[in-house]
Amino acid sequence: MSESRKSQPHGDAELIARVRAAARQEQFLEVVSADEAHRRFGIHLDLTPLPAESVVLSDARTRVLARDVVAAVDAPPFDRANVDGFAVRAADTVGASDGKPRVLVLNAEVIACGSSPAVTVMPGTCTAIATGGVIPRGADAVVMIEQTELIEEHAARIELRRAAAPGQFISFAGSDIPRGETLLRRGTQVGSREIGMLAACGLDRVDVVRRPRVAVLSTGDELVEPGQPLKPAGVYDSNGAIVAASVVEAGGEPIAFGAYPDDAVALERAVREALAVSDIVVLSGGTSKGAGDLSHRVVSQLGKPGVLVHGVALKPGKPLCLGVIGNKPIVVLPGFPTSAIFTFHTFVAPIIRARAGLPPEVAETISARVPVRIPSELGREEFVLVSLVGGDEGTVAFPIGKGSGAVTSFSQADGFLEIDALASVLEADSAARVTIIGSTARAPDLVIMGSHDVALDVIVGTLADRGFAARTLAVGSQGGVAAANRGECDIAPVHLVDPATGQYNKYLVTPGLSLVPGWRRMQGILFRPGDKRFEGRSAQEALKSILADASALMISRNAGAGTRVLIDKLLDGARPAGYANQPKSHNAVAAAIAQGRADWGLAIEPVAKLYGLGFLPVSPEHYDFLVVEKRRERPAVQAFLSALRDEETRARIRGIGMEPATD
Ligand code: AMP
Ligand code: MG
Repeated sequence: MSESRKSQPHGDAELIARVRAAARQEQFLEVVSADEAHRRFGIHLDLTPLPAESVVLSDARTRVLARDVVAAVDAPPFDRANVDGFAVRAADTVGASDGKPRVLVLNAEVIACGSSPAVTVMPGTCTAIATGGVIPRGADAVVMIEQTELIEEHAARIELRRAAAPGQFISFAGSDIPRGETLLRRGTQVGSREIGMLAACGLDRVDVVRRPRVAVLSTGDELVEPGQPLKPAGVYDSNGAIVAASVVEAGGEPIAFGAYPDDAVALERAVREALAVSDIVVLSGGTSKGAGDLSHRVVSQLGKPGVLVHGVALKPGKPLCLGVIGNKPIVVLPGFPTSAIFTFHTFVAPIIRARAGLPPEVAETISARVPVRIPSELGREEFVLVSLVGGDEGTVAFPIGKGSGAVTSFSQADGFLEIDALASVLEADSAARVTIIGSTARAPDLVIMGSHDVALDVIVGTLADRGFAARTLAVGSQGGVAAANRGECDIAPVHLVDPATGQYNKYLVTPGLSLVPGWRRMQGILFRPGDKRFEGRSAQEALKSILADASALMISRNAGAGTRVLIDKLLDGARPAGYANQPKSHNAVAAAIAQGRADWGLAIEPVAKLYGLGFLPVSPEHYDFLVVEKRRERPAVQAFLSALRDEETRARIRGIGMEPATD
């Protein structure tokens, strides 16, 4: 480990220096526009396909042909019978009918597949032939066995009741693949069909473009390899896995180097090795100019032309670092997973595709309406990941809104829209063009928008077993109510208490919506086991004493959450320390308490159990479903409602700590 990263106690001066360095980071980035970044990088890039290599046919799938493939043989290699029957001279069959059958003498030969005929078909004769057999000399048509009658008086003869046109039931040599013709063009990506054609021409190997080898390195002291236990303050290395898989998707061959701590010496050694064995090097993390952010510094010491861009006016993706060493591109992706994969697709995937001999990817776009306002940073071209749902008036694009630190934003998005660098907001109800990601995604049968709950997964699972794909967007109870009223979803799960009556959800029903009971979940106070301020007390007692205790730190919930309404009701105007901390999920509340960043908060009982926390029940909460009436008859909505009533499903919901409603 380098000096500055030691985790032992620091002298004051050293600590202050580190704090200053951390505060200074980013300010040093010389941020350029995305176009300028492409230009500076592009000057030094070789985008020609890599040299060819020969592979056996069984390894050829997904590879790109390096040269045109010219057929060396005909397929079929000879004139071939397409049915079981008799090879005849068409002229002999003219006028044959039920009333006037023609009689042909059978030659003393049966042509099976793989046997070469020896007897010529003379006028008035025919030869028995199997499907796939070689048409004998003299014959120019085949008649189906079903349309003949065998007569066995002295010599074997057949009776024919249909005339045959010349060429009937014959595939001529080369009619499928003519010798000398270009069968497949270079640049074609080989699939099973191409493999079939190559085999039909007798080829067992084919020349393909060598796949660009892409070394993938992750950096960060916090990183833990998937499969290992997570250490405190640790984060699983997801970039390594998603980048390597994306390299494969772009036509490259990843070389997984794994994760490196923020140690300049070890990292430089690894990067040099990576450069030696690969065509492209991709790192992630450590690209800001703070203490501990070493990747760009390491890259800048490796040779010419070196770092070409460090800082791009993109969101996500600002700290991206682009360089070339010799003729090898080396890219440091930002550490945040969504930023990393977004910039990978923008700056790295096109290089891999080009070197792999693949054409640039054609982005499919659709137009959609954006129902909510999206603020945007001025001066940075912003990409907003969205989920697409079919609304009443065309497609609606919902921002996923988990931010660039999330792994799931990119993975669960249907596409993204772009907000110009010069715009500071995209107003609600704007029309936007959405670029589709992974266009194979199937449109969901059912759209569920609102509050999320673990038991909802049970219902969605039951639906999946019945063949219905549901899409759930966790937009909070109030977001669900709005989406249901706008007709953007089929079902909105909600748990909102009416402050006036204390009643759950019923007051949300408006014309066009109905309420279907879901389940009851116990909301209560979460605390660390052993905390005497809570243990053994009732929620009311505990609350009274902690509101008087300035050292008790709470964690609240976001506005719009049903739980937040309950919190505010419980606090009755009090604002204890930590109230401003407002994460968006039960899990975040539980994790903060379990890890000691807060002492108490409100969440549901199953989540308390999941994190090993103590729980003081406050009140059972009703988690119900607003159903958009005009969509109620849809098969997927009906399946959802029937799953809610299904005894087996209800038992599973009970199993995770909820009480299915009976009313
Ligand atoms: P950095 O760019 O190193 O400052 O990292 C920015 C953020 O991305 C931090 O929250 C890191 O923990 C996170 N991060 C960096 N590398 C990875 C990775 N390989 N996998 C997942 N998260 C990462
Ligand atoms: Mg880092």
